[in-house]
Amino acid sequence: MSAKILSGKVFAQQIKEAAVAKAKEIEAQYGVKPGLAVVLVGDDPASQVYVRNKDKACAQVGLHSEVVNLPATTTREELLATIDRLNADPSIHGLLVQLPLPEGLRGCEKEVINRIDPAKDVDGFHPINVGRLVTGEPGLVSCTPAGCLRMLELAGIPIDGKRAVVVGRSNIVGKPMASLLMSRNATVTVCHSHTRDLAAITREADILVAAIGKPKFITADMVKPGATVIDVGINRVAPHKLVGDVDFDAVSEVAGAITPVPGGVGLLTVAMLMANVVQAAEQQLAHK
Ligand code: NDP
Repeated sequence: MSAKILSGKVFAQQIKEAAVAKAKEIEAQYGVKPGLAVVLVGDDPASQVYVRNKDKACAQVGLHSEVVNLPATTTREELLATIDRLNADPSIHGLLVQLPLPEGLRGCEKEVINRIDPAKDVDGFHPINVGRLVTGEPGLVSCTPAGCLRMLELAGIPIDGKRAVVVGRSNIVGKPMASLLMSRNATVTVCHSHTRDLAAITREADILVAAIGKPKFITADMVKPGATVIDVGINRVAPHKLVGDVDFDAVSEVAGAITPVPGGVGLLTVAMLMANVVQAAEQQLAHK
């Protein structure tokens, strides 16, 4: 059996097209473009690439975009003051601080996330937005799991009543992914590094999400024939080679549908960020 490839490019394009249309409506109604500000502290090369991609995506979708570059020597107080300024800026509807923070600010990540106005928290990391997700209230949801869910919906993959297994329980991916799947009536199991007999659990999954951070960790014998496999992992195994958490070649012989790496979930994440900025702008402008 050869799995259907769920191309991140195709679904990201659909998510972005919807964001373009919504951004145009907002501009026509309120006379402002939805705006995103990204704060980048220090000069980590991977973070610089991520921030450039977000800036480029804003240009494609027709959003206002600001990148605030701060030196690695920035103090906690200076960073918090920057967040306060952007929280108060009416041209900015979405605000995120690129993580990880440099060495000197490592202990401040929670405080930084909590300082962002929840209405502008387009990463969906603020405890208020996490709480809204868990309690089923509308809010901003972490872009990677939100993108995965949107892809499943756009691909017409049934979720209601299905068995879903999420491997990984991070606050950014695993936990919100599990909440989203549960909100769509899947029966969800979350696995982590203490899970016993992982393969027996993953083999029960109609929808298997791998968010582990270990190259090719999910092997063909861990996958139920015909399952949908979503590979969130991004692992650099050589200077120019990225692989996912799923052994793509072998698993695609067993699965019914699978996302590739690269070209899968990573593209959905940026597209979903655009959708979140537009959603945040709409909410803020409607309640002015
Ligand atoms: P974390 O390191 O925060 O979490 C990894 C999770 O995997 C943990 O819950 C950990 O369990 C679990 N885990 C580790 N080893 C095992 C094991 N042997 N068996 C079962 N579970 C295990 O990672 P993230 O969630 O932030 O990211 C996961 C991957 O997704 C990474 O490769 C990351 O680069 C990628 N990523 C991709 C994004 C995209 O846009 N495509 C966005 C965000 C992340 P425990 O909790 O017990 O430690």
